[in-house]
Amino acid sequence: MSRSEDLFASAQKHIPGGVNSPVRAFRSVGGSPLFIKHAEGAYIIDEDDRRYVDYVGSWGPMILGHGHPEVLDSVRRQLEHGLSYGAPTAMETEMAELVCSLVPSMDMVRMVSSGTEATMSAIRLARGYTGRDTIIKFEGCYHGHSDSLLVKAGSGALTFGVPSSPGVPAAFAQHTLTLPYNDIAAVRETLSTVGKDVACIIVEPVAGNMNCVPPVPGFLEGLREVCDEYGVVLIFDEVMTGFRVALGGAQAHFGVTPDLSTFGKIVGGGMPVGAFGGKREIMEQISPLGPVYQAGTLSGNPLAMAAGLTTLRLISRPGFHDELSEYTSRLLQGLQDRADAASVPFVTTQVGAMFGLYFSGADAIQTFEDVMASDAERFSRFFHLMLEQGVYFAPSAYEAGFTSIAHGEAELQLTLDAAERAFAAL
Ligand code: PMP
Repeated sequence: MSRSEDLFASAQKHIPGGVNSPVRAFRSVGGSPLFIKHAEGAYIIDEDDRRYVDYVGSWGPMILGHGHPEVLDSVRRQLEHGLSYGAPTAMETEMAELVCSLVPSMDMVRMVSSGTEATMSAIRLARGYTGRDTIIKFEGCYHGHSDSLLVKAGSGALTFGVPSSPGVPAAFAQHTLTLPYNDIAAVRETLSTVGKDVACIIVEPVAGNMNCVPPVPGFLEGLREVCDEYGVVLIFDEVMTGFRVALGGAQAHFGVTPDLSTFGKIVGGGMPVGAFGGKREIMEQISPLGPVYQAGTLSGNPLAMAAGLTTLRLISRPGFHDELSEYTSRLLQGLQDRADAASVPFVTTQVGAMFGLYFSGADAIQTFEDVMASDAERFSRFFHLMLEQGVYFAPSAYEAGFTSIAHGEAELQLTLDAAERAFAAL
């Protein structure tokens, strides 16, 4: 038994499923999860002292690679001054100024402690601001696990959502409409009937929680248009895409401006952080300026602000995102070439430093159905073949992959050599 397997067995006695977040349990790919004891640069190192090229990056935050010395130093320096005050700090203003300068749609921002909190708060704000209850989300998009957002499509067009988890009251789900991603006609049709009741549309501008599905041309632009037409607040959930697909996020990459945005992951540099913000007129509705309540004991935590600020400054250097994007393109082209050589039907998607791998014969991946039609069982075999050779992809066929600036030539070659053997073995 490996030490990871041993630790997993112990973990399951007192932690549900042995993990503190479900996808870590490897349920979707089978087998036993790696227990990690150290991470540096592009690598994670498990309890059995095996090294893996890491394409998960803590699910997105580690865009500089693990343990970047300047990020660690900034946290160490802050440590000397205490862990948390529950009172304002100069760093929080620096963070707000930096976020608002990097993302021009942001006039004001509030820090929270997770992506879930950010989206939950943004939706409450949109409802408070508009005085409307209904929200629209898209099938296959994930926005954290708050009640209003754990909702899937009801049957047929224009039906209200049904809870996607026990514990979510049907009455809550009734306020959430779930529409097909990348289908602007469905949005127009829905708004033509219920438009005046809709508080907000929340969307992942690149869907990263059903593998990686880029928006089709016109989808985000169409959302902007219909939101303006019906007085609906447009929320881009940039928890995953923010500061990753471009320095200014997906809104900069695609040139579409939302009313509110949510962030997480990179904005905290690996510490537990989320943020939401946007138009001044809307943000002024938040307590203590306005009546919409939102708060947090650890919000704006100084260690988290130190890690996040240093990360944002380091990724602001010119050329950073181009380099990342280029590595990602070479990785995907290399994988495609090796899959083609082995006659394995395989498609990839990419937006900047975010990517998707599909065992599929489809020409393009644009919808939830396209994702579901890919071969998840084959992905699981590929995942394990790569893992055995020291490459760690997300342990699920429905999660996006992430690259970091610490991924270089050696990691690329190691990955592609392993993939050549894996595709041949499939
Ligand atoms: N929104 C998106 C787009 C996400 O990808 C995630 C998490 N992966 C969340 C919200 C929730 O963030 P957290 O896990 O920090 O609560």
